[in-house]
Amino acid sequence: MQSPINLLDFDRKGLADFFLKMGEKPFRATQLLKWIYQENVTDFEQMTNLSKPLRSYLKDHCTITAPEILIEQIASDGTIKWVVEMGLGNRIESVFIPEEKRGTLCVSSQIGCALACTFCSTAQQGFNRNLSVAEIIGQLYVAQRRLGTSKKITNVVMMGMGEPLLNFDNVVAAMNLMMDDFTFGLSKRRVTISTSGVVPAMNRLHEVCDVSMAVSLHAANDELRNELVPINQKYPLKELMAACKDYASIGPRKHITFEYVMLDGINDSVQDAHALLKLLKNVPAKINLIPFNPFPDSNYRCSSRQTISRFKDILYKAGIITTIRKTRGDDIDAACGQLVGKVKDKSRRHLKLQALGSSHAA
Ligand code: SAH
Repeated sequence: MQSPINLLDFDRKGLADFFLKMGEKPFRATQLLKWIYQENVTDFEQMTNLSKPLRSYLKDHCTITAPEILIEQIASDGTIKWVVEMGLGNRIESVFIPEEKRGTLCVSSQIGCALACTFCSTAQQGFNRNLSVAEIIGQLYVAQRRLGTSKKITNVVMMGMGEPLLNFDNVVAAMNLMMDDFTFGLSKRRVTISTSGVVPAMNRLHEVCDVSMAVSLHAANDELRNELVPINQKYPLKELMAACKDYASIGPRKHITFEYVMLDGINDSVQDAHALLKLLKNVPAKINLIPFNPFPDSNYRCSSRQTISRFKDILYKAGIITTIRKTRGDDIDAACGQLVGKVKDKSRRHLKLQALGSSHAA
């Protein structure tokens, strides 16, 4: 028997095509999206505005299956981390960050990560596979169900495990889906994709999806960035900055957010701050300084509070809006770069890293 079609794998266009192919009207797509995402109905029999034969077809051939939450941990600051089961021994993590006026869900895009950023614990896990659309949108779906009506997900950041632009089609479909009026209706200003700088995909993104962009910069010169964020060897800063400028210039978007992890003695000097200013001179930028979050066997230390403030002041005085990211959920390892899930590594990264010893970093 053919395995059933998971309807969470479709965005509105995909669903409309699916219905058209079976001789149904495309508006069935919006009816179905409403049932699934707004009415929380998974039993096709209860979808009373669909014809009886259609309901019975869906029942025989389709499912609405979201991934399951295995573990829930709540930090002292209210941050919630969910470990989500993805089958065959793989688990990913999603994190909910409640604030006074908003609730942000940090969503994963891959099981593990194929990039090897030296300061990130997800990188140490190696890579298994891309998540499907259902597994990405499913993280919102199960999180919102779990939170109930009292806490609403108002923002999504694609800043969990994985490099979202290396899972382009599925991430785009899932982001378009979460902004759809018939699902979560998130505003495009409240959905952010974070990338380590996959330049060709950055250049293509605006054609298919209109969201905010954050770039994990972390260094202002190629030599250091090649080491910290090795994808820089393929797409160096000159190309990255050109892609950022282009993305910011399209539509009413005003800026790109640059993430910059503060690593003691590595990228946090006064000279580094000035180099950053020079690099961003012609790019509409906001900067988000991220205090480094340690993890077992990490070879870096976080810059001191004074060093981070000094760095911030230099940027701020030069007119760039600069914030220091508040570390959230670190007592449950839910902070940036601490998400590890459980990855059946297919890239054998952990073995390669062992062979390299710790000479790589620090
Ligand atoms: N791969 C994407 C999405 C991950 S976003 C990207 O690189 O943008 C997670 C953010 O946290 C990135 O900016 C990442 O560089 C940063 N990060 C990773 N490890 C970290 C750590 N140990 N401490 C603080 N920030 C970290």
